[in-house]
Amino acid sequence: MNEKSSQRILAVLIGIGLLFIVLLPLVVGRRGRDDDAPFPKSHPRPIRDYVPGRSHRLEKLPPELELVKAFAKPKHAPVMGEWLQAHPEQGQTLADFEQERPAGGWHEGRVLYLVAVGVLTPAQEQLVERTRALLSDWYQLEVKVLPPLSEEIVPPESRRDRQNAYGTQWQTEPILDALLMKRPDDAAGLMAITATDLYPGPEWNFVFGEARYGARVGVMSIARHGDLMTEPTLVLNRTLTTAAHELGHMMGLQHCVAYECAMNGANSQEESDQAPNEPCPSCLAKLKLRLGLNPLARAVAVERSYADAGLPLGDLPAQLDVWRDAGVVH
Ligand SMILES: [Zn+2]
Ligand SMILES: [Zn+2]
Repeated sequence: MNEKSSQRILAVLIGIGLLFIVLLPLVVGRRGRDDDAPFPKSHPRPIRDYVPGRSHRLEKLPPELELVKAFAKPKHAPVMGEWLQAHPEQGQTLADFEQERPAGGWHEGRVLYLVAVGVLTPAQEQLVERTRALLSDWYQLEVKVLPPLSEEIVPPESRRDRQNAYGTQWQTEPILDALLMKRPDDAAGLMAITATDLYPGPEWNFVFGEARYGARVGVMSIARHGDLMTEPTLVLNRTLTTAAHELGHMMGLQHCVAYECAMNGANSQEESDQAPNEPCPSCLAKLKLRLGLNPLARAVAVERSYADAGLPLGDLPAQLDVWRDAGVVH
């Protein structure tokens, strides 16, 4: 190979590399821009020979959760385009979670708050109310809806128009800043919900939701959750799962790499839809530790409310059978 042709090959390779760097952020729409969060040690933690979650699944959990581990599906190895392929996170074991407890202890707030940003239609308001009720069972906490925030909190320079079905987008940053001012002292998390599409920064296409972990605030959009008129149950399930996921981050849970789980990272709506609407036993163990919730009492409440709403029950009935057979009481 002469010098000229090797230079040309090098130029082409550099060109491809640059193109890759430029395009990569554009193809990644994230459920949460979660990897820039203040939780310190492990987010993300790229590793060699990546097999998600193998060691996590061996971790000993509280006895009632050990009983239902067998129902949880191990997290599948990531394929091209999926979250873990783009972000090979090491995840967070129960022991990691405990170790990452802030020095002063977790915040004592035990109320979750939802707040709309901008005007919602009556159907969208009803969606927020139904999500509120479901989240209350999900977390076994009181969930309140605050009076809506005006869209004026998003300044003109934080708005942009996209040539797609979702129209105007708002940048998450000013919304998260405004939430800090509005967050009640007893909030375990404050989640803003908007019907407008969101983006985290100029280099991103869009984002489903974004949370600031330690600050206990987050924002999510229902713009890409589907048509409330023709597919209300799907929209409700997506809204619940996204809200529960982001609130989980606010409580210190990182992405789950152990099992198929509501705390899995997702790069697209399709990938997000593959994840269950429920936490896996490992993430439930974290919630038990963090909130003192009783997994059996929670499962009883969630099964009832999911059934009433027509949402997928997943392994809940089987889990409850196991617990009842084993005499686990709440
Ligand atoms: Zn996330
Ligand atoms: Zn999990």
